[in-house]
Amino acid sequence: MTAQVINGKEIVAAYRARIKEEVERLTEGGCQPGLAVVIVGDDPASHVYVRNKAKACEEAGIYSEVHKLPGDTPESEVLALIGQLNVNDRIHGILVQSPLPKHISEEKIVEAIAVHKDADCFHPVNVGNLMIGKEGPAPCTPAGVIEILKHIGTDIAGKHAVVIGRSNIVGKPMAILLLREHATVTVVHSRTPNLAEITRQADILVAAVGKAKMVKKEHVKPGAIVIDVGINRLDTGKLAGDVDFDDVLETAGYITPVPGCVGPMTITILLKNTLEAAKRAAAQLQAN
Ligand code: NDP
Repeated sequence: MTAQVINGKEIVAAYRARIKEEVERLTEGGCQPGLAVVIVGDDPASHVYVRNKAKACEEAGIYSEVHKLPGDTPESEVLALIGQLNVNDRIHGILVQSPLPKHISEEKIVEAIAVHKDADCFHPVNVGNLMIGKEGPAPCTPAGVIEILKHIGTDIAGKHAVVIGRSNIVGKPMAILLLREHATVTVVHSRTPNLAEITRQADILVAAVGKAKMVKKEHVKPGAIVIDVGINRLDTGKLAGDVDFDDVLETAGYITPVPGCVGPMTITILLKNTLEAAKRAAAQLQAN
C-alpha cells in the first residue's frame, strides 16, 4: 500500500479563501484586521518565515507591518515597541519571530504582548486558557494539524495519537488539542526508551522533533496517518521533515509532505487568529 500524500496546497487554499471573505466583510464594516510582526536580528530562515507571513496577510486582505530590528537592539526597545503595538488600534495580532538574540528574554517579550493580541497563543494566560478549554487564540502549528486531520475526514475521537516532541510551541499544545478532540494521547521525547514500540501503536503520528528524517518505517503502524511538523535544512540546502518520507511512504496510510503542508497551514491559523482578534475588537467597539 502506498500512502496518500496529503494535498496541503488544496487545504490551505480553501481555508484562506474563507478567511479572505470574512476579512473583506469586516474591512467593509470599518475594521480591517491587522498583524504586526517583530523580527530582531538577521537569521535568514526567520526572515523567510516573516516574508511568507507578510505575503499571506497581503493575499488575505489583512493589514500587516513588519518591524525589522538590528540584532543588538536592547531588550527595553523591543518591549517599548510591543507597548506601542498593544495600544495601536490598527493592530489586532502581534507576533515576535523566534529565535530572539540571547540578550533578549523570550519570556519577558511574550508576557509583554497584550493577551488579546497574542497571535501565536504563547502568552501564559492564553496557554492556561487552552489547557482548560476556554476561548482564545489557537496555537498555530497544532491547530493547523487538527485542521489537516479534519480535512482528510479523520474521526479523531478514540484514536491513539502519538506526538513525538514536548516543546511549548508544538508538542505540548498538540497533545492538548488532540485530547480536546477525544484522542487517546501519548507524548514521547528524547528520554523515552523504546520509542518505535510506542510510535508503532499510533493511529495518528505527529512528528515535531527537529531531527531530519528521524521517523522511519519501523516507527509507523501500517495505515497510520503521519503528520510531519519538522522543518530541517539539509547540507544540500534542501528542506526535509522529521519523517523519512520515502522510507515511510509504503507503510503509512496518509502522509504530509515537507515543505508544503504543515508550514503553510501554520501561517493560515495565524491569519485566522488575527481575523478572530479583529472580530472581537469590532464587537467591543459596537458594544461601547
Ligand atoms: P524543540 O527543539 O523545541 O523540541 C523538540 C522536541 O523533540 C523535544 O521535546 C525533544 O525532547 C524531542 N526530541 C529531540 N530528539 C529526540 C529524539 N531523538 N527522540 C525523541 N524525541 C526527541 O522543537 P520544536 O517543537 O520547536 O520544533 C520541532 C520541529 O518542528 C522543528 O523541525 C521545527 O523547525 C519544526 N517547526 C515547524 C513549524 C511549522 O510551521 N511547520 C512550526 C514550529 C516548529 P526533549 O524535550 O526531551 O529535549
